[in-house]
Amino acid sequence: MWIVFECPSCHGQNVAEITGETIALRCSACAWQRPVSEENRAATEPANCVVCGCGDLWRQKDFPQRLGILMVGTGALVSTIFWWYMMPAWAIGVLLLFALLDGVLYTLMRDVLVCYRCHARHRHTPLVGRHERFNLELHERYRQEAIRLEEMGQKPKTQNSKPEG
Ligand SMILES: [Zn+2]
Ligand SMILES: [Zn+2]
Repeated sequence: MWIVFECPSCHGQNVAEITGETIALRCSACAWQRPVSEENRAATEPANCVVCGCGDLWRQKDFPQRLGILMVGTGALVSTIFWWYMMPAWAIGVLLLFALLDGVLYTLMRDVLVCYRCHARHRHTPLVGRHERFNLELHERYRQEAIRLEEMGQKPKTQNSKPEG
């Protein structure tokens, strides 16, 4: 499983791999680390966020939206060129091809789990349906919580941010 996360301590962007032998998740820039529970080390869907311990994660396609837009844009451009040369069948064909490609890629892309609280992305993990798709209400609740904590002058709490023992 790959974790893409922002370090709770130094706010640096990190990418880390969690295998069966990974005892702790570490920041590449500072001394922050957090023990990885045995359950999350197993090659299965994590029960909670490996970075902050939050149990609410949402499932989404690991497909960068920008790539999708870029592809559709390229298709439209190539199609326009064919129109210019008065080849309407090719123009429509190209447009359909790119739309199809976009759809196929979207379907093939695996899901990622995103943490509601810290937005860490848990990639390349087999999903067994433990977590639901994005829920706006839940998202709003975490957003409000983050705002409240910020107003109180403290950063969102992370559980067990220090190694145990
Ligand atoms: Zn750090
Ligand atoms: Zn989290």
